[in-house]
Amino acid sequence: MSDWEEEYDADGAQVDKPRKAEWRPPPSGEGGGGPQWRSWRDGRRADGARGRVGRTDFSSPAPVVFSVERAAIGRVIGKVNLIKINSGNYEGEVVIFGSSDVQKKAKEMIDDLILDNGSCDLFEIGVSPSDVVVCLNSLAPSSTAPVSLPPIDWASIRQNREKYEALKWQDLPPLKKDFYIEEPSVASRSAEEVKAWRKTNNNIFVDDLKEDGKRSIPNPVCTFVEAFQHYPGIMENIERVGFSKPTPIQSQAWPIILNGFDLIGIAQTGTGKTLAYLLPGFIHMDQQHKRKGPGMLVLTPTRELALQIEAECGKYSYKGFKSTEIGNLGD
Ligand code: AMP
Repeated sequence: MSDWEEEYDADGAQVDKPRKAEWRPPPSGEGGGGPQWRSWRDGRRADGARGRVGRTDFSSPAPVVFSVERAAIGRVIGKVNLIKINSGNYEGEVVIFGSSDVQKKAKEMIDDLILDNGSCDLFEIGVSPSDVVVCLNSLAPSSTAPVSLPPIDWASIRQNREKYEALKWQDLPPLKKDFYIEEPSVASRSAEEVKAWRKTNNNIFVDDLKEDGKRSIPNPVCTFVEAFQHYPGIMENIERVGFSKPTPIQSQAWPIILNGFDLIGIAQTGTGKTLAYLLPGFIHMDQQHKRKGPGMLVLTPTRELALQIEAECGKYSYKGFKSTEIGNLGD
């Protein structure tokens, strides 16, 4: 039968045949384009439409690579490291690793499924070093016998995650977060004094949201010196703008943020919230390991607030830091 006869019926209409797997030589290097690939190809030609592989030398362990229609690929189960499917838009590339026997067996089964069974999908492939199972959609084990998929080993996945996280950070200098040096005048404040101070300063309520093992909340500072006397550049800014004392939220927020704790601060507009995070933010940016790129990101819910914060930032200068406002396209 000629190629033409294979592809067209007696009326000249094209025959809708399943597409044969297209062979590509294994990658160059070990076995690349060599005898194995040729023997696969020759085997297919010699055996015609059945897609069987005949006189084939499977001695080389180079991976076998070929393409099948994307629609013919189901899912791969079992030791998937032996068969890999690289899915493209229209075609999937099937790469078979493993011993020559496994490669041979898997390839034969795939050919059988695609070539012998017409429209049947290559639905499931299970491969182990010694055994290969390839099932059709219609014959998938799920429709006859349950497929026993190996249980997911979450413990090892978690362990690997931690391992790779650690590898990711290992070359970076350690992250330092605590830049607070508590003044004796602050440390010596009694719990009653602190309680009274909070009561008379907007009735501040402070809590640690950590449920297990609550941390002790640093005492509030009552002067700028108590907060920033070790940071002269910050003190210069405060003297320049002429503020007389910290606002309540600043008094309580500065020791917490300088300590490196996360803080959610809720206070009315005009109570000095911006400076409450801006000044400790300058210190964190300066004291951390220097790297290129932005060091602080302030997110705001409105453009108006972003502009206000930008204006506030513009009043202070510290170590040459610059600020800019970035709008949202949908804004
Ligand atoms: P806010 O919008 O809550 O950040 O408040 C900002 C306004 O409070 C700005 O006009 C600041 O200049 C002013 N401000 C910030 N800190 C103080 C302070 N310690 N004393 C007086 N005014 C301050």
